[in-house]
This record gives sequence, structure tokens and C-alpha cells, in this order.
Amino acid sequence: MTVRPMPLVIAIDGPSGSGKSSVSRAVAQRLDLAYLDTGAMYRALTWWCVQQGLDLEDQPAVARAAKDLQLQMGTDPSSPSVQVGGVAIDQAIRATVISESVSKVATNLGVRDELCDRQRALISESAKSTGGVVAEGRDITTVVAPDAHVRILLIANQESRLARRAKELHGEADHAAVSATHDQIVRRDKDDSTVSQFMEAAPGVTLVDTSDLDFQQSVEAVLELVRAQTGPQA
Ligand code: C5P
Repeated sequence: MTVRPMPLVIAIDGPSGSGKSSVSRAVAQRLDLAYLDTGAMYRALTWWCVQQGLDLEDQPAVARAAKDLQLQMGTDPSSPSVQVGGVAIDQAIRATVISESVSKVATNLGVRDELCDRQRALISESAKSTGGVVAEGRDITTVVAPDAHVRILLIANQESRLARRAKELHGEADHAAVSATHDQIVRRDKDDSTVSQFMEAAPGVTLVDTSDLDFQQSVEAVLELVRAQTGPQA
């Protein structure tokens, strides 16, 4: 019998609309683990830069802002939170203006160095205090936590991803809503894939395709993999 490692680190990557955030959060809740949304960290920095009126193309200035950012991530999966300088920005970072510009910030290599360091520290702290963590993003299985006990790439075909995000943003997945969502899925993933590889599973990373799975089935598929790879307690 396999014994569940303590602390348990589960890394989940995937493109926009693959369901990785909601699935990762539900898995963390089911297993009583912490939950780290690394995309929210890139969004928080983008929000801060926009607030400060920084030119997002000014790479050294944005990288400096990343170093100075007073960011606090709450990792309780039942109420994850993001604060900058003590201000709650959970809603603000989901605004279209942030979704449209976050890739500019995330493709800045100085920013990535800084945020990856912070992500490793957060994973280690929350894993110690909670017994484990589910961390999700684009490069968690490959760069941030390549030693995680379970590494998963959650994908879905473009049609499913567009429909899901359109429903999330517009409450429906009709033609107009899907076109309006195109930038947030296809263009953003194209830009993001210049710095992270999240469309194909790296060696040792298990691919989970959720195209034909509903939310609950996707959660079960991930839990099943965690059980298979770490033991029955999961
Ligand atoms: O997951 P979410 O859509 O909130 O991520 C927002 C953005 O943050 C992504 O489009 C990508 O530019 C960036 N990101 C990243 N690396 C991660 C997580 C997110 O570059 N590990």
C-alpha cells in the first residue's frame, strides 16, 4: 500500500478554460489541503501596475514592481483571497482590462523569476502548515514545483474551453458570447505559450482531458489520479 506523502504537493497546469482553477480548488477542499492560484498573482501585479500608471511595456519597471509588490495570498480553498498593500482585490483582478493585459506582465522574465520564487515559498509554507497544497497555473508542474508528488496537465479542446469561459463571463455560450471570449482564451494562451509550455504534458506529468467531462467528473478524475499516485487516504 502506498502511503500518502506528508506534506502532499499537487501541481496542476493547463490553458485558460480548462477548468484548472475550479477543479484545483475543489480537490484542495476535498483533501483538506491549501490552494494556491498562481494566475491570481500575475493578475495582482498587473492590477498594481495599472493602478500606478506604469507602462506595461517597460520591462525593467514592471520587474521592479514585482519585487516591491506587497502581495498577500490567502490559501484557504473555501475562501481564497488576494490582497495588495492590505486592499482586497479579488474582484478587481478578474476585470476584462486585467485579463487583456496580464500576458504582457507574465511574459516579462524578470517578473517570472520573482513570482516563481514567491510561489515556491508559498507552496512550502502552506504545505507545512496545512499538510499539503494544490498549486495551479501554467508552469507549476515544470518550473515552480517539478518535484511535486502529483503533476497534472488539465486540458480541454478549444471549443469546450471557449464555451465554458463564455458561460462564466456572460452567463451563456451563444455565438456572440463565444466570440467575445475569444481574446481571453486563444490570444492569451498564444502569448502565454511563448514563455511557458502548457499544451503538452512534460515527462512525468499526467494528462487529464476534461473536454467530455463535467465539473464533478473532472474533480473525480483528478482525485482518482492522486489516489493512484499517493495512496488511498487521498
Ligand atoms: O489562470 P489565470 O487565467 O488567472 O492566469 C492569468 C494569467 O497569468 C495567464 O494568462 C498567464 O499570463 C499568467 N500565468 C502565468 N503562469 C502561471 C499562472 C498564470 O504566466 N503559473
